[in-house]
Amino acid sequence: MVRLTIKNVDCYYGSTKVLESVSFRVEDGDFVGIIGPNGSGKTTLLKCVSGILKPKVGTVLIDDFNLELLGRCELAKRMAVVPQESYVGFNFKVLDVVLMGRNPYLEGFRSESEHDFKVAYEAMRLTGILHLADRPITEVSGGEKQRVIIARALAQEPEILLLDEPTLHLDLNHQIEIMSLLKELCRKKGLTILAVFHDFNLASKYCDSLILLSRGKIVSLGSCEKVLTSENIEKVFGVRVAVKHNPITGSLYVTPLFNPPKTEEKGLKGTIHIVCGGGSGSNLIRALLEEGYKVTSGVLHLLDSDYETAKTFNLQVVCEAPFSPITEENHQKNLRLMEEANLILVSNVPFGNFNLKNLEAVKTVLEKKRKKVLIIDEGEKQRDFTGGKAEKIFEELKNMGAVFVKNQKEALNLIKKIV
Ligand code: ADP
Repeated sequence: MVRLTIKNVDCYYGSTKVLESVSFRVEDGDFVGIIGPNGSGKTTLLKCVSGILKPKVGTVLIDDFNLELLGRCELAKRMAVVPQESYVGFNFKVLDVVLMGRNPYLEGFRSESEHDFKVAYEAMRLTGILHLADRPITEVSGGEKQRVIIARALAQEPEILLLDEPTLHLDLNHQIEIMSLLKELCRKKGLTILAVFHDFNLASKYCDSLILLSRGKIVSLGSCEKVLTSENIEKVFGVRVAVKHNPITGSLYVTPLFNPPKTEEKGLKGTIHIVCGGGSGSNLIRALLEEGYKVTSGVLHLLDSDYETAKTFNLQVVCEAPFSPITEENHQKNLRLMEEANLILVSNVPFGNFNLKNLEAVKTVLEKKRKKVLIIDEGEKQRDFTGGKAEKIFEELKNMGAVFVKNQKEALNLIKKIV
């Protein structure tokens, strides 16, 4: 069942249009996150959905009722709002603040019934603030106050809960507790939630779907996978990010990336070709890019984490099918990249029959040209899984002038001196 319908809404502050042609629907029991840069209209959208700000154009429907036609009490029984900053005047006890959520149910001057207290205590139990019941609201921390305000909203027993950055003042532990609680209320009690988030990772872990706003318009809406793409985030926030699935939680996580210098940028120091694999090269790739080098790599197998890193940074990289020996064609491509580079860096990668050709390529290039070759050998783990073939090539490379270093730091320091 559709609980909320926002149809072609335009909202203004004075003569300034802040929301334009905003349309979306929220199903009963859905947990929908609103994300977007500062000033994109997220809070305004919540104000519009909660009836605080009337849209100049368009309509907001709760079930099939126009929001404007619902009385204040009727609306408060259906919808509760947790604003970003809540001012609670006077020295009310926490319990009294939570009981304020029962106001829409108190007819005339009737005072709270046993049932009202029961609902308030249950809301406090859910938000973990029972122990604060008698504490003055002015004497609780920012995070505790936020939970009091959420408890007050839950005491309204709403069908729809609107929250503006509900985890803003909470520590990590309480962020997770509150988000889990909200999710549970959606699942078990069919509560519909529309909430503004600034943390993509928290939003993607808990929300069923997202709305991405930019300059008052919806840029993307739908599943977290659909909305949280690196293209969307780069377009709207102007920040390069990597979006991956967290292997433990299964949810998406977004990692901001620095902007590597463009290859055409002046002052580029030179090209480093890195032979790596299995994650042994990712830190080196990042560090070299940060230093302003152009980086190429190969041959890397698809699904290898170093390949993922190389693709994330748009490196020129020779790629092989997963778990396959390197084909002659890819070997030749790799040789060409090596020849174009100023220096070849071999990470602490182990060699087996699937990647031995990379080491052979290093030898070929070193034989043909006086190319600088730097090999990292941390010496801790076995790295020859070829029955001695790789060891032999390492020996040959050493005799031909390849420089061996003990770790990444040494390698980077040396590269900075010679390239
Ligand atoms: P967000 O929540 O995404 O940060 P807001 O909805 O608060 O964005 O604001 C959207 C735009 O409306 C911004 O440009 C902001 O400066 C403006 N704005 C917000 N509140 C008011 C107001 N009360 N009067 C005038 N302009 C406002």
